[in-house]
Amino acid sequence: MKQAIMLEPGRIEYRDVPVPEVGPGQIEVKIRKIGVCGSDIHVWHGKHPYTSYPVVQGHEVSAVVTKLGEGVTEFKVGDLVTIQPQVVCGKCYPCTHGLYNDCEELKVMGFQTTGMASEYFVVDAVKAIKLPDGMSDEHGAMIEPLAVACHAVRRFGDIAGKNVVVIGGGPIGNLVAQTAKAKGAAKVIITEISDYRLKVAEKCGLITVNPTQTTLRDAIRSAFGSDGADVIFECIGSPKTLEEAVEVARKGSDIIVVGVVPDLCPINMGFVQDHELRLIGSAMYRVEDYREAIELVGKGLIEFDALITHRVPFSDYAGAYRLIEEQKDKAMKVMIDMEK
Ligand SMILES: [Zn+2]
Ligand SMILES: [Zn+2]
Repeated sequence: MKQAIMLEPGRIEYRDVPVPEVGPGQIEVKIRKIGVCGSDIHVWHGKHPYTSYPVVQGHEVSAVVTKLGEGVTEFKVGDLVTIQPQVVCGKCYPCTHGLYNDCEELKVMGFQTTGMASEYFVVDAVKAIKLPDGMSDEHGAMIEPLAVACHAVRRFGDIAGKNVVVIGGGPIGNLVAQTAKAKGAAKVIITEISDYRLKVAEKCGLITVNPTQTTLRDAIRSAFGSDGADVIFECIGSPKTLEEAVEVARKGSDIIVVGVVPDLCPINMGFVQDHELRLIGSAMYRVEDYREAIELVGKGLIEFDALITHRVPFSDYAGAYRLIEEQKDKAMKVMIDMEK
């Protein structure tokens, strides 16, 4: 089978490798679609701190089950699935307390262990999640980023009736905002400086704010009045917007840190103490987030199509990155099509 392997930043080569044996408890799948995400782009640029080369990428997928290993009864050949890309130890404190996304030995497929950028992939059946009949393979590959959003909202808790601010209108910010709305938030505003991404957010039914035109403080006042925001999701990972999130928080607000923050970030901790703010990290997802993502899509509450901006054949994996470089904010979710 063909496998796309990144030998060093910016260089992808195709290799013919044997399809691995399907062991007991495992399944073989044929990969259909792979979404490219922000972390993949960091790997392409050699800027992902926890990835070494060579690496096989691909962690946002849909795939069709092609073979069942001994003892696998929960799937049948032909099922459309997605795959949780976390490889965990099963022994550490988080793993033994249901928090395996925080595993002390966490390895993620496509970063610290082999990803799914190959025609076939063999994986433990427990990592596969069946997608509902009728779900397209593109939407199937969007369940992973939506699970990120579901987890972020879960980290806050019951969002029904709450005033929500989402900072950042990239795919994750957009999906966090859509998830909050789908789960009954009173009002959700999303801030973004790219006109293109603002338009996409509008298409998804979100209330948009361009912080180059209105300050976040004013936008919060006009959306929520003196009540302010109950929760602010930072989905950029920029020290500047994190600081701003703290500054505009109301007393008792929660700030959920969803964006990957590459730099140290000066936070006014005196303000955090005095305002009883809670700063809450959110990292990846667990199976319950996948299930919730699938449920929200099933209820017709999530708009994916507006986010899928480009499609690139598997034979031109590097082309996906060049396209992202050229299109910048206009490339939101680029889908690798394995059939081409
Ligand atoms: Zn990703
Ligand atoms: Zn562990």
